[in-house]
Amino acid sequence: MSEIGSFEEHDTVEKHVIRPPIPKALKKYWNNRYNLFSRFDEGIWLDYQSWYSVTPERVAYYIAQSIFESHQPELIIDAFSGCGGNTIQFAKFCPVISIELDPIKIAMAKHNLSVYKVPSSRVTFIQGDVLDVLRSIDFASQYRTVLFMSPPWGGPSYSGKSTYSLSDLIPYKFDVLYKAAFRITPYIAAFLPKNTDIDELAHYSTDKNRIVVTNFLYEGYSKAICCYFNMKNVLTSTALQQA
Ligand code: ADP
Repeated sequence: MSEIGSFEEHDTVEKHVIRPPIPKALKKYWNNRYNLFSRFDEGIWLDYQSWYSVTPERVAYYIAQSIFESHQPELIIDAFSGCGGNTIQFAKFCPVISIELDPIKIAMAKHNLSVYKVPSSRVTFIQGDVLDVLRSIDFASQYRTVLFMSPPWGGPSYSGKSTYSLSDLIPYKFDVLYKAAFRITPYIAAFLPKNTDIDELAHYSTDKNRIVVTNFLYEGYSKAICCYFNMKNVLTSTALQQA
């Protein structure tokens, strides 16, 4: 695990940026690029994998705003930074620690943050395996911390399943991630597939601490959910036409 100060090897990083001609499998995501990043044309960098896993800007903003308005965190930990879609929006509200395994994605996230004029002091990137990093964090209890995770769903094939089990998340099952997160803070938000098994989710709910689930809709269809654990007063639901 290492903290990345400046990763300036643009040649190496830029090699991974997807540019026209766009691969056929990514065409529908490319057509949606301004919903992913309204400033796309100002030079956003995304690698192949990030095209289908980045959170659309309005969704990321809505989640950041919901967390901030309900909870006023002093620190947000973004446990799976990817190319920075969520981190950019969290950084509008408070300092962020962003965890990511892939140094190329960290370099792209830093670049994308600069497109959105986020001061570099606002976000600390930690490169490493999410569990190793979460288990090493020992300062978060000093701050009012919210941990957000958008873990890998296993690529676009998740949507073919009638019900998505929390054990299907890779590389770690949800329960493992939740326990590692809970050691740091009880205030946890998770961005999960629309078909997540609600009965499994309910295991994390108590009478005192209900889970709030926000369903993100596009043209009337659910696209994804965001689940807030142990967090009261989160805005409950929205329909985002452009999400
Ligand atoms: P999806 O399946 O939703 O498309 P991805 O496979 O793109 O998700 O993964 C989301 C992000 O999580 C990626 O940026 C990936 O590098 C990162 N990631 C994957 N595994 C780990 C891990 N063990 N620790 C930290 N980050 C990880």
